Amino acid sequence: MTLHRIEAGCSIGSAQLGSPLDALETRILLMHALGLSRVQLITQSERRLTLDEAQRFAALLQRREAGEPIAYIVGQREFFGLPFRVTPDVLIPRPDTELLVELALQRAPHGARVLDMGTGSGAIAIAIAHSRPDLQLTALDCSAAALAVARQNAADNLPLPAKAVRFLRSDWYGALPADARFDLIVSNPPYIVAGDTHLSQGDLRFEPVSALTDHADGLSALRTIVAGAAAHLVQDGWLLLEHGFDQAAAVRELLIAQGYQQVQSWQDLAGIERVSGGVRPS
Ligand code: GLN
Repeated sequence: MTLHRIEAGCSIGSAQLGSPLDALETRILLMHALGLSRVQLITQSERRLTLDEAQRFAALLQRREAGEPIAYIVGQREFFGLPFRVTPDVLIPRPDTELLVELALQRAPHGARVLDMGTGSGAIAIAIAHSRPDLQLTALDCSAAALAVARQNAADNLPLPAKAVRFLRSDWYGALPADARFDLIVSNPPYIVAGDTHLSQGDLRFEPVSALTDHADGLSALRTIVAGAAAHLVQDGWLLLEHGFDQAAAVRELLIAQGYQQVQSWQDLAGIERVSGGVRPS
């Protein structure tokens, strides 16, 4: 069998050279197909692939060439230094979102109750809980399938998941007890405008559409979260929201209109205003 010039009997080194993908993606897929570490790929570069290995690697290359995200193919993506399981039921964690985690860690007082709305893979809540065992995390999502992935990630990454993060199936504030109060609320909600061309390009084609777009102007989930947050925040509690590259001014306006104080935006790694937030109106 010959596929992409990857065949049984070719060496690990030549399988890499024969790949149609770039060197990084090739290495990730080859490590996954062979169950080898990065160092093992190098030290075993002369070793010949078995038929089974060659077929496994070729099948992964084909999936990637058909556009499937690397993270879904290998079932994992690193976020905030932790490995997260990802399936097509959850958005793939983005490096930009680490900004939201850092801002939350800076603002959460010792022992604070933190709410993550629309947790997906659980990346944000679990990264926060992992860095700060003193905090009490609640993570909600309307998708039962996403919550199953998030619970698994908590079990994999946290020493005492049952105590570290409480998961709740909820459509935004819907299932939260009316008297639930938090010191900090964070969210990376769906914020892509309906019909945005990015939704039909690259990795986004394979991600859950309800995690990406509100099927409207991109601000409807952000509006819902801002409108309901004050009722669930303590005095001086922060609300921190990730949003699209061109939404910072609009989100600041939403916060100011609701009476939030210290309203501001923060730039991501690419220098784009990516998170906005403020302190609960008194
Ligand atoms: N940051 C993601 C993207 O544009 C979108 C995630 C979201 O809608 N929350 O690829």
